[in-house]
Amino acid sequence: SMASPALLMRVVASAYSVAEKAATIVRNVMSAGDLGIVEKAGPNDLQTKADRLVQMSICASLARKFPKVTIIGEEEVPTDDVTEDLIEDGHCEEILKQPCPAQYTGIKEEELVIWVDPLDGTKEYTEGLLDHVTVLIGIAYGGKAIAGVINQPYYNYEAGANAVLGRTIWGVLGMGAFGFQLTEAPAGKHIVVTTRSHSSALVNECITALNPDHVVRVGGAGNKIIQLIEGKASAYVFASPGCKKWDTCAPEAILHAVGGKITDIRGNSFQYNKEVKHMNSAGVLATLRNYDYYASRIPNTVKESLVP
Ligand code: AMP
Ligand code: MG
Ligand code: MG
Repeated sequence: SMASPALLMRVVASAYSVAEKAATIVRNVMSAGDLGIVEKAGPNDLQTKADRLVQMSICASLARKFPKVTIIGEEEVPTDDVTEDLIEDGHCEEILKQPCPAQYTGIKEEELVIWVDPLDGTKEYTEGLLDHVTVLIGIAYGGKAIAGVINQPYYNYEAGANAVLGRTIWGVLGMGAFGFQLTEAPAGKHIVVTTRSHSSALVNECITALNPDHVVRVGGAGNKIIQLIEGKASAYVFASPGCKKWDTCAPEAILHAVGGKITDIRGNSFQYNKEVKHMNSAGVLATLRNYDYYASRIPNTVKESLVP
């Protein structure tokens, strides 16, 4: 008989289904029309009913299946007493069939940390820029992002009523990433993707110093990594604090699984152990290719303005 699947593959297979349930909640809250917007730190740091319900759904569903895994979610909402209609107990059978990379077969529940951004791109969600929104479930082991699921609930929403809405991208280091078509950015062009709602003088100074051919301003860390792996942009540059570990964990795993690289603006890699500071204080620099080209052109004055 077949050996039972490794824990990591069971977690990824469950996270896939949990993220699809999350996407349904994101769409349902929007179509019901009452977003229940709450300001957290200020008007550029919002939480909606979808952020709250999805956080409860993801964290309670994964905690029920994997009780010893550490789960860290963005929102401060209770995860005990979550109503049954929010629980997803399914998994993706296709993922469960895949062999686990050898270096991860021995992982125990206590050794995993799951970083959850229930709704990335909340500001854009409230403004109707729906395809900027993603649901992020990142899986870390030994302080490294090793697997991730990105669901884009409104993928294809501009393609019309007959288009299939939403998609789920997933990846594991040593396996690759799936659910999208890996595409190179136009050769010889420097296309920078950055924030649209959290800009600052430093953010713009850094981009100007890179002398890009084009700048794409879109919401969401998940969405910006999708821009990189689908060849829409060549570098994600964000010279500012604001992005947190739950924003980068799933995107990092998927980007690294296809040979890309993400660090802070100073070139330091991110750590994802459970004790780590949540804020990515020194910003984000990510590319699918040519990381060194961009890293070598970030001005020292910008680097020195950002303290990790
Ligand atoms: P953005 O590129 O602006 O969509 O930001 C990517 C992620 O980092 C989102 O989850 C944002 O909410 C978060 N973020 C970035 N900057 C800030 C900020 N100044 N305040 C709060 N959240 C931020
Ligand atoms: Mg986010
Ligand atoms: Mg969020």
